[in-house]
Amino acid sequence: MTCKELVEVVTEYLEGTLPPHDRAQFEAHLAECEGCSAHLDQMRRTISLVGHISEETLTEESRIELLKLFRDWRKSKSEK
Ligand SMILES: [Zn+2]
Repeated sequence: MTCKELVEVVTEYLEGTLPPHDRAQFEAHLAECEGCSAHLDQMRRTISLVGHISEETLTEESRIELLKLFRDWRKSKSEK
């Protein structure tokens, strides 16, 4: 699973509707990707604040923004 794929299914994961096979891949990716772990934490915090996952929680724009953040994070990591 790539970061992009993970971002696409993160709401299903949090809602518990992700199929077991995908869920395993999701968790395997999380274990080795700091960017996605941070994203998931952020999502959990957002959801606990608003009480549910709304359209505003994950608009297309915020997905694109997140993917940009992942790229920057990876870039900064490889430069060190
Ligand atoms: Zn990732």
